[in-house]
Amino acid sequence: MQKAFTVVQTLLCHAACASIVLYTLPDFGIRPMLQPSLSALTTIVEQIARTGDPRDVMGNIVQRLRELMQVDVCSLYLCTPDHQHLILAATEGLSANAVGKAKLKLDEGLVGHIAASLSTLNLGDAPTDDRFVFIPETHEMPYHRFLGVPLLHLRKLIGVLVIQGRERDPFPQEAEAFLITIASQLAGTLSQLQSQGGWYEKRSPRDGYRRFTGLKGAPGLGLGKLWLVRPHLSLDQIDAACSADHDAEKAAITAAIIAVTEELESGSGHLGQHLPGDLNALFSVYQMMLQSPELSQQILARIDAGDNAPWALKQTISAMAEQFRQADDPYLRARAEDICNIGQRVLNQLLSSERPSIEAPDEALILAGELISIADLAEFPLHQIHGIICTQGSVLSHTAILANALGIPAVMGVEQFTPEHHRGANVIADGHRGECVLNPPAPLLAEYRRMIDEEQRFMQELERLRDQPAVTTDGFLVNLLTNTGLLADATPGLQRGAEGVGLYRSEIPFMIHDSFPTEQEQFGLYHKVLKAYAPRPVNMRTLDIGGDKQLPYFDISESNPYLGWRGIRFTLDNAQLLISQIRAMLRADVDNGNLRLLVPMVSRVDEMQSFRRYVEKAVDALNRDGHPVRMPEIGMMIEVPSAMLLLPRLAPYVDFVSIGSNDLTQYLLAVDRNNPRVSNLFDHLHPAVLVALEQIHQQCEALHLPVSLCGEMASDPAAVLLLTAMGYSTLSLSAYNIPRIKLLLRSVSRESLQPLLEQTRQCNSETEIRALIAPLLETVGWSQDKRPGLLAKGAETAP
Ligand code: PEP
Ligand code: MG
Repeated sequence: MQKAFTVVQTLLCHAACASIVLYTLPDFGIRPMLQPSLSALTTIVEQIARTGDPRDVMGNIVQRLRELMQVDVCSLYLCTPDHQHLILAATEGLSANAVGKAKLKLDEGLVGHIAASLSTLNLGDAPTDDRFVFIPETHEMPYHRFLGVPLLHLRKLIGVLVIQGRERDPFPQEAEAFLITIASQLAGTLSQLQSQGGWYEKRSPRDGYRRFTGLKGAPGLGLGKLWLVRPHLSLDQIDAACSADHDAEKAAITAAIIAVTEELESGSGHLGQHLPGDLNALFSVYQMMLQSPELSQQILARIDAGDNAPWALKQTISAMAEQFRQADDPYLRARAEDICNIGQRVLNQLLSSERPSIEAPDEALILAGELISIADLAEFPLHQIHGIICTQGSVLSHTAILANALGIPAVMGVEQFTPEHHRGANVIADGHRGECVLNPPAPLLAEYRRMIDEEQRFMQELERLRDQPAVTTDGFLVNLLTNTGLLADATPGLQRGAEGVGLYRSEIPFMIHDSFPTEQEQFGLYHKVLKAYAPRPVNMRTLDIGGDKQLPYFDISESNPYLGWRGIRFTLDNAQLLISQIRAMLRADVDNGNLRLLVPMVSRVDEMQSFRRYVEKAVDALNRDGHPVRMPEIGMMIEVPSAMLLLPRLAPYVDFVSIGSNDLTQYLLAVDRNNPRVSNLFDHLHPAVLVALEQIHQQCEALHLPVSLCGEMASDPAAVLLLTAMGYSTLSLSAYNIPRIKLLLRSVSRESLQPLLEQTRQCNSETEIRALIAPLLETVGWSQDKRPGLLAKGAETAP
């Protein structure tokens, strides 16, 4: 009993979980247990998992569980990558030599039975059970009591967790309940460790080789030396210190803030020299934060209270970042990274006289760090940055937005990765899979090099297609437009042969601004975009915030944001914003003539009626004021099922239709597009989505409404083939994917796609549909993982 208390107290201490309430569980028949140990154990595991080698983490888990449950044996068996076997991954009680060796088929022995039946097994005398198999490597003593539970994460079997004891009766019910609970708590962490690979192999040959899973930030593959983007002294390393010379400290911090503000000024100083001009606009967020009176007042007040400048800075920045982190809204939470970056830059400036200058070597670099700011990126020539890895952040982070715009592969939120331990290591940033690979062994490195070379060669080859039409071998022409949001996207879009902008996400500039931009500011921005693409069409979508897209200066907290104040609902309720945006777009169009307006999240007829009235009024008002604006074409996005069902009634108010396949899939399938728990259910090839797309196309044809599709579906080769078969002749996608999709279209005949479409109509699942299309994709050079192989035959010969 005393021992149980000590273990739990130690665990609680480590977990620093002050708020956990202690109470006793029913006696397991072993010794009394404490409920909080469960959450303490999982907290510790999560902490260890951030830094440790998977094998050490697994060893720690079984060791702590054995102590906690006071049993003779605790073992963890994990599925091999091919899902054919279970291997002993860690044990406390069986022979350590068996780890990585003891291997069972998925239905072999008691452990295999648990895996095959996905059910718990609790036996009083395991060796007498028919299914029992003795594994010699384990040196298994006659442990009679046996309890095993399957480990499942997101419906997938990961392995089996087993405890054993010498007693000759089954474990009590409470122990069974406890093990089931802890297995479900640990499954997520174990699944991540399992996916890193290497856990079942001996340490020596592959020491240093690790894979880490994060989030896809920006597509592409990059290989280089890991360059830790971390200041020489980080804010975290600043300790409490006082100074009596308040004036000197205040002067130092004020000078540092002024110097960083100047450094950030667009187009000036070395910071902006490597970035395309318009990306410098992003620095305005930093400048706004730096110039906020709150920041300097709080720092100066702390200095008055006796702190020295670095310590005052650190405390102020930490407090502000914490406020952002507490926000419910993911976009605001992501702003904590901005305030930390700013604090770091001010600190660097403050300490600059002591800071040795370390120059990055002139070779391919993968920049890695907690968060990489725009300013960090700007310190390197772009050609040197081959990839970005951030241990924090999300796809909403500015880093990811920028990396996409600049065509740099990026992996975000790789929580387990500790770049400070691996300076100078060879590392691969795989933005296609959201994965980074550290110290790849020679054969793997060679394979990645081959893929990178192939990708580069492939992109170069594709340049030849830039001015060629995206036309099938039997003459069906598809217009490939680009999705964009940052002005900097204009260059990649045009370079890659975009025939216009199918979707300009106007909310992106709003998201990186510090307040609602004025009509004049918007005019400047829209004018540049329209001019860059003129005479090609530009579909400018009005502000589409809500859902996961939030403005830092306008809080929309809702319990169900995807069904709330989004898109046109928000802008009609805030008509002053809508009117100024429409006016800015109309004015920007005057000497370009290529504007088309696009309305997001339409779900009702009166929304389009109102929108059209606002545009007509704006045209009249501007004409009266002497602006020769014209009435542009007005399009509606189909993202909500009601818009699809009401298409004939909406038709009188719209000139064209653009399908937002991301939201249409989300709302048709009732699957949150951003929730990783249900991400396996989110697929735009779901039969219901395909039925909807066919109906929309047929209706639009009957109503003589031009229809196009934007959203991720237009970058998915399997989907593009089906859309082409259905008759979709305008697609809008990221600039990066345009050449590949063009190549694909030039490699197939539309006629050959018709039987495929017919067959998919009989399918009941997206898996069946993908399996049907895979062989054709293979024949035109697309591998399973959606990366095209070498230039496909026929691509050069299309008309
Ligand atoms: C969509 O929903 O498919 C779309 C293009 O809009 P967004 O991804 O910006 O919501
Ligand atoms: Mg949408």
